[in-house]
Formats: sequence, C-alpha cells, structure tokens
Amino acid sequence: MDFFDTRLYGLEPYIPGEQPKSIKGLVKLNTNESPFPPSKRAIKAGRAAAKRLHLYSDPTASVLIGAIACAVGVDTECVAVGNGSDEVLAFLTAGFCQNGMIINDITYGFYKVLAKLYNVNKTVVPVREDFSIEVDDYLGKSGTVFIANPNAPTGLYLGLDKIERLLCQDESRLVVVDEAYIDFGGESAVALLPKHPNLVVTRTFSKSRSLAGGRLGFVVASKQIIDGFMRVKNSFHPYNVGTVTQQMGIAAVLDTAYFDYTRGVVINNREAMKDGLRALGFTVLDSKTNFLFVSPPDGNGKRLYDELRKRAVLVRYFEGDRLSPYCRITVGSDKQSAFVLKCAAEIYG
Ligand SMILES: *Cc1c(COP(=O)(O)O)cnc(C)c1O
Repeated sequence: MDFFDTRLYGLEPYIPGEQPKSIKGLVKLNTNESPFPPSKRAIKAGRAAAKRLHLYSDPTASVLIGAIACAVGVDTECVAVGNGSDEVLAFLTAGFCQNGMIINDITYGFYKVLAKLYNVNKTVVPVREDFSIEVDDYLGKSGTVFIANPNAPTGLYLGLDKIERLLCQDESRLVVVDEAYIDFGGESAVALLPKHPNLVVTRTFSKSRSLAGGRLGFVVASKQIIDGFMRVKNSFHPYNVGTVTQQMGIAAVLDTAYFDYTRGVVINNREAMKDGLRALGFTVLDSKTNFLFVSPPDGNGKRLYDELRKRAVLVRYFEGDRLSPYCRITVGSDKQSAFVLKCAAEIYG
C-alpha cells in the first residue's frame, strides 16, 4: 500500500451486497431495493432534466428540499440532501462526532467504517439476546449515537417512546436516527424534533422511493445542525446531488399515490412471507422494513443462502456467531415472494 496513509491501514471498507452485471433470470433479494421501477412521473422528470446536464446541478437543491420539507412537515431550513444517505451519514460523522460515536454491535455495517475513516472513537453497545435494543444500555455513554430504526439487518423497530428516552438521557448528546426503512410501517422520529434539538433523522430514496441508483438521501434536524452539515457538505462537494436525481426526487415525492401503492404491496408481501416461512418452521423476526431476517429450521443460514442461490434467488448472508444462523431476504414483488416460499418449501418441506 505504497503512499497510502498509514492511519488508514486498518480500514475495512463496507462490503455492499453483490450487484450482478445482469439480473436476467435472477431473483435479486439481497440489497433491499424496491421491486418496482421509479414512478413514471419521476422517469419523465429525469428525462427532461437530462437535457440540462451541460450545466452544474443546483448546489442548494432548493426545489427538492422544499418538496421534502413539505412532505415531512418541517421548515426548509431543517432539511439537507446528500448523494444517498450514506453520504449524509459520512458528513454527520465528519462534522458531529467530536466526542466519538456510539453504535450497536448488530446494525448497519457502514457506521463503523465511517468512524474509522474519520478517526472517530467508537463505543459499541451490544444488542440483547433477542436482538432488541435496550435504551438503558446507553446510559452514561458519551459520543454521538447512531441508531438505525428500524434496525438492519434485524428489521426490529424501536417505538418512539424509547427514542425519546434516549434523547432525554443526555440532552448534550446527539442522537442520529437512521430511518432508511421508516416508510414500511414505523413512526418517524421527526415528530420529536420540536422538543428535542439533539435529534437528527436521516432518510433515503433508495428503499421506499425506488431510486437506489439515483443516490438520494436527506437529513432532518434543527436549523443549527443543518447549518453545520452544510459547512461540511460545501467543504467536500457542493454539487453532491446531480440534476437528474434532484428532478426525479422532486417528482417521486409528489407522486404520493405511487409511493403508497408500492410500499403497501411490499408490506403485504412481507407479512405473507413471514407467515409462510413461520409455517415451514423458520424463525422470522418481526419486521417493519422491506426485508425479513430469517433462520431456517436447521439453523444454518449459509445452507439457506446456498440452496436459494442454486435456485437463482440471491439473498444476503452475514458471517459471525450471532448472524450466521440467519439470512436477510428483501421483500420483493408478489411473484418473487411466492417463488421464495416455493423454494423454501422445497428445501425444508
Ligand atoms: C440502505 C441503507 C442506507 C443507505 O442508503 P443510501 O441512501 O442508498 O445510501 C442507510 N442506512 C441503512 C440502515 C440502510 O439500510
């Protein structure tokens, strides 16, 4: 690693789920994308925007931010956007983790990578035996809390009363609630913002808005926090969200009918798949996301992954003591969900 910064020798980059070159014939349920294409209105807006690509994108993303603020029910000053919520999380790590970062041992794998990249001390809070997060375990710990709610890869959701208790434990401690999956049944912590200035909420268009490839995420927080966030953003990349993505994002936010229809289908399929798998003897955690965290009857997650793979179904398997009995399966279309159940019956029936 000639010339490479020695401080980064220990960096272990986040490993995203496999993105095969061709998904023809493949049931791709490994990275929690939407089974639905973007809204037709978004595609139309994206095409029109392509004609303006000789010009830079709007660095303030003002129209997009206006649309998001309106949808979420906050002032425009309380919203900022990023190139995916991964970039939003990176800016928060770079700018708001002076006292360190507090994360769970089982959560989104990117947080710990960011801590390392930005040289931030990290404190790890183990989740309980049943994968639940116990708010009392955060008492007396200092640093910025990063918590995915619902959590990944478990899918478990923490009620707002618990989030509020976390916020109240220490009002000088910032709490970042990563709500990548909130549109699939949970209640957003944005409602707590007026009472809790130490709250930051992040969201993405990648899961519930069918725009994973567009790379769009956003953050909701107090005006003061957004000001700090913008200082980091404008010191890193002022044009962080491209023109096509901004326009598609605006149209996607406005197409509420499509948003509600698509997430409704996913929620229904999730519940049906949960019941179907449980009937086959699987352990399935309750999920408020677009995926299920499941363990087959023999408790062998790797075998489930391999057997599904043989049948052209791609899911996510995580190594490690506590995760290896499980696989994470994205909830897809009606057809995809039915196929997964059919395969599971074939393998374990
Ligand atoms: C998918 C995901 C993200 C990242 O989303 P992008 O907007 O695509 O970068 C962030 N947090 C969690 C928990 C996720 O699952």
